[in-house]
Amino acid sequence: MKVKVVEGALKEELLRVLRDRRTGTARFKEALRRLGLILISEALTELKLREVNLETPVAPGTFREVSQEVVFLPILRAGLSLLGPAVELYPQGRVGFIGVYRDEERLTPVPYYLKFPLIKGAKYLILDPMVATGGTAEFTVNLLLEKGISPEEVVLVSVICAPEGIERLKKFKGLNLITAQVDERLNDRGYIVPGLGDAGDRFCGTEGVEVIESYGV
Ligand code: URA
Repeated sequence: MKVKVVEGALKEELLRVLRDRRTGTARFKEALRRLGLILISEALTELKLREVNLETPVAPGTFREVSQEVVFLPILRAGLSLLGPAVELYPQGRVGFIGVYRDEERLTPVPYYLKFPLIKGAKYLILDPMVATGGTAEFTVNLLLEKGISPEEVVLVSVICAPEGIERLKKFKGLNLITAQVDERLNDRGYIVPGLGDAGDRFCGTEGVEVIESYGV
């Protein structure tokens, strides 16, 4: 797996806002959207290009255009936070959804909703802001590989990763991971330390309130 950690003052500033426990839902969403733009822009740098001839208002010339399809795959729920910036940056991209929950007894990912386009030769961007154990990402990459998608055409876009998650995904030769930070470790509750807490809850505003959750009912 190829790991790319984006660098720069702007990502540090946005990460600082996201990490701060005092940051409320509105600022959290906005910082995640802006950091998402940086990460997704990086993830799209290697799209395939082809030459085109056209005329500008001033002169004819040979230029380049994107020749590869793109599929955004947010992992529900937290991955939706990166879908906004993804479609803002690249509205031509197609969108699929990966709904997976964790069986707490067997500690295995269980899919409850999968719907995504299968496009030969497309670049697939898996959107998951927190790669903690890497279990859901591993499930999703395996799913794409089973469908014949090449690992070189898969990019996992995350905001913060745990070293444990990276270790688990190392076996996927050719897979690309783009992240803003690799943090210290996971704690015994599966949270990234220091991390930013539960990204899904902070993005959805479901922290500290009663939440109804059910699958397949
Ligand atoms: N998912 C999160 O949202 N946060 C973590 O720290 C780990 C997994």
